[in-house]
Amino acid sequence: MEKVPEIFGKLVFDDRVMKARLSSEVYQKLRKTIDEGAKLDSSVAKAVATAMKDWAVENGATHFSHWFQPLTGITAEKHDSFIAPAPDGGVIMDFSGKELIKGEPDASSFPSGGIRATCEARGYTAWDPTSYAFIKDRTLCIPTAFCAYTGEALDKKTPLLRSMEALNKQALRIVKLFGNEDVKCVRTSVGPEQEYFLVDKEMYDKRKDLVFTGRTLFGAGAPKGQEKDDHYFGVIRTRVADYMADLNNELWKLGILAKTEHNEVAPCQHELAPIYESTNVATDHNQLTMEIMQKLAEKHGLMCLLHEKPFAGVNGSGKHNNWSISTDTGINLLSPGDTPYENAQFLVFLVAVIQAVHEYQGLLRVSVASAGNDHRLGANEAPPAVVSIFVGEELEGVLMAIENDTPYSQTEKKVMKLGVSVLPRFNKDTTDRNRTSPFAFTGNKFEFRMLGSSESTACANIMLNSAVAEVLRQFADELEAVEKDKFDDALHALIQRTIREHKQILFNGDGYDDNWIKTAVEERGLLNLKTTVDAMEVLKDEKNREMLKAHKVMTDVEIDSRYEIMLENYAKTMIIEANTMVDMAKKEIMPAVNEYAADLADEAAAKMAVVPEMACTYEKKRISALSDLVEQMDAATEALEATVAAVKAEGCVKKQAEIIRDVMVPQMSALRAPADKAETMTADSYWPFPTYTDLLFYR
Ligand code: ADP
Ligand code: MG
Repeated sequence: MEKVPEIFGKLVFDDRVMKARLSSEVYQKLRKTIDEGAKLDSSVAKAVATAMKDWAVENGATHFSHWFQPLTGITAEKHDSFIAPAPDGGVIMDFSGKELIKGEPDASSFPSGGIRATCEARGYTAWDPTSYAFIKDRTLCIPTAFCAYTGEALDKKTPLLRSMEALNKQALRIVKLFGNEDVKCVRTSVGPEQEYFLVDKEMYDKRKDLVFTGRTLFGAGAPKGQEKDDHYFGVIRTRVADYMADLNNELWKLGILAKTEHNEVAPCQHELAPIYESTNVATDHNQLTMEIMQKLAEKHGLMCLLHEKPFAGVNGSGKHNNWSISTDTGINLLSPGDTPYENAQFLVFLVAVIQAVHEYQGLLRVSVASAGNDHRLGANEAPPAVVSIFVGEELEGVLMAIENDTPYSQTEKKVMKLGVSVLPRFNKDTTDRNRTSPFAFTGNKFEFRMLGSSESTACANIMLNSAVAEVLRQFADELEAVEKDKFDDALHALIQRTIREHKQILFNGDGYDDNWIKTAVEERGLLNLKTTVDAMEVLKDEKNREMLKAHKVMTDVEIDSRYEIMLENYAKTMIIEANTMVDMAKKEIMPAVNEYAADLADEAAAKMAVVPEMACTYEKKRISALSDLVEQMDAATEALEATVAAVKAEGCVKKQAEIIRDVMVPQMSALRAPADKAETMTADSYWPFPTYTDLLFYR
C-alpha cells in the first residue's frame, strides 16, 4: 500500500506539478490569475496547455475534457483525444492553449430554460483556473464554466464565481475600514458534510423505484428502524469499511481532503466530511465526491443512494454546508479576535450574516428546493422549511447586551462598547448543540443545514454569498461616509440597529417543534415555504432580483431561466415517480397480493373439502382485507394515471407543478398506503421485491 502523502493529489495538476513543470515566469503569471483573478494572456495558456498535456499523458491519459456543471444538477463531460495526425501517417499527442481556454459543446441538449432556442445550439465552456485540472478515467478533466453564446450562464459555476467576487469586493471595503490594508482578497470557504445510504446492489436491482427514482416509493417499515440510536457512530460493518477505505483512497488521489467518516442515524446511512476549501473548489470537489461514491459502491456490490429521502420512516439525507469568510492573510472573519477591533470586525460580519439571512431567507430557501428535498424541509423532518439562525445562548446574550446597552457579563457588569471592550470568550463547543436549526453558528463558521444530499453546493452558496455581499455593501457605504473620530460610535450604532431590526431571525430552540413554526410565521413574519413549488415564487420577487442583478451575479434572463428549469426538473422528477408507482402497482404489487389471496382461497377450499363445517376465519379475513386493499390500489392507480395525463397535457410548467403539488402528491400517498398495508399482510415469499428489512439490514 502506498502511503497517503504519496498518493494525495497524484491525479491533480496542482501547485506542486505547476511549479515543477512551468517556467517560473509562466508559473508566476498563472498564480496571479488563480490568486487574484488577473487576466491570463494567451502565451501563458499555451505553455500551461503543453505542460498539462505532457503530465496527463505521462499519467496514462489519452483524452481531455472540459468538465462543467449544467443545470441538470450533475456534471457533464465530452471527451476528445489528444491525437493529431503526423505527416508520416502516425499521430502526435497535441493540446493547444485555445483548447485549454475554450470549448464549444453543443448546448442544445442541456437545460437552458428558454435562453437558447434549440436552433442556436452553440454554447461555450471557459477554463476556470482557480480549480485544478485532474485525471479521471484516463481523461484530463478541466473545470470550466458553461455559457450560452450570448454570454448567459447555463451552469452553476459561473454565478458561484460571480457571487464570490461580489462578496470579495464588499468584504474588502469593510476590512480596510478596520485597518487591514494588507488584505488583497476575501474568500468564502465551504466544508460540506455529505450524507448517503448504501444498499446491496442485488436488492437494489430488483426494485424499479430505486433504479428509476433513487428512492423507495413503496415499503412498509421494518420491525426495527432507528429508534434505538444504535447506528449513529456505531461500528462500521466490514463491507462498508472496505468501501470507505477505497473511497478515501480515490478521493485523496484527486486531491480531495476526505477527513471524517461515520455511520449516521438511520440504518445503512453514512457521512463523509472533507476539510473545508475555497467555495468554488469545494463545490467541484463535492460533485466529484458524489460521482465517485456512486461509482465505487458498485465495485463493492453496493449502491450509493444520494436521494434526500430513500426510505420512509427513517431519516433522510442532507448536506451540511459549513461556511466561513476569511482573508488571504489568514483571518477568519467569523471568528472573534483578541483585540476590541478584531471583535468589532467580527461582530460586523456576524450581524451582516444575520441581516442577510433575514432579508433574503426566501432566496436561501429556494436555493435548496427540489422534489427530493421536499421530503425533508416542510415534512416531518429537521430542519424545517422556515429559515432561522441559531447563535447559541452565550452569543445571543452578547448581542442582546449590545442591543440594550446592558452589561453582557454577569460577573464583570461591563457594558459592551464596541472599539473598547473585548468580547467574552464563548466556548466553541457549547454553541454547536442545536441540531434542528437550519442555519447555525458553530463558533467560527455557519452551518447551513437545509441542503439536500444530492444537491450541488453551488446554489446555496450563490445566494448566501450574494446576500451577505449586499448587506456588507450597505454597511460599507454607511461607514465609509463617517469621519475617523466618529467611526467607533457609528459602528456601535450600526451593529446595535442591525441586531434590533433583524433579531427576529434568531432562534435557539427546537426548530422541529410545531409551536415554533406557528410563532415564526405568525409573530415573526418569517416565510414557511413548504414545497419547491411554493419556494420558487421567491425568484419572481423584485427585491431579490434587484439584489442579484446589482451584484452582477445573475441577469433577469438567467433568473427566469433558472425558475423554469427548477420547475421543469420538479415536474419531470415527479412524473417519473408517479409512472414508476403505477408500473409497480399494476405489474408487481397487485398481482402478487392477488396471487397470495387466491392461494389462501385454494387452501381454505381444500380444508373445507375435508372438513365442510370448517370456518376458515383466518383465510376469509385475509382474503377480504387483501381484496379490499387491491380495490383501493386499483382506484388509486387509475386516479394517478389520469393526473399524469393531465399534467402532461398542461402547457405551463408552473401550472404543471401546482397540479403535482395539490393533486398528484396526495394521490401518490393514497396509492402507497394500501400497498404498504398489504405488504404487512402478505406472506414474504409472495412479495415481488426486497422489503425494507432486506434493504436496511443487509450484511
Ligand atoms: P459536525 O458533524 O460536528 O458538524 P464535522 O467534523 O462532521 O462536524 O464537519 C465539519 C465540517 O466543517 C468539516 O467539513 C470541516 O472542514 C468544516 N469546517 C471547519 N471549519 C470551517 C471553517 N472555518 N469554514 C468552513 N468550514 C469549516
Ligand atoms: Mg458531521
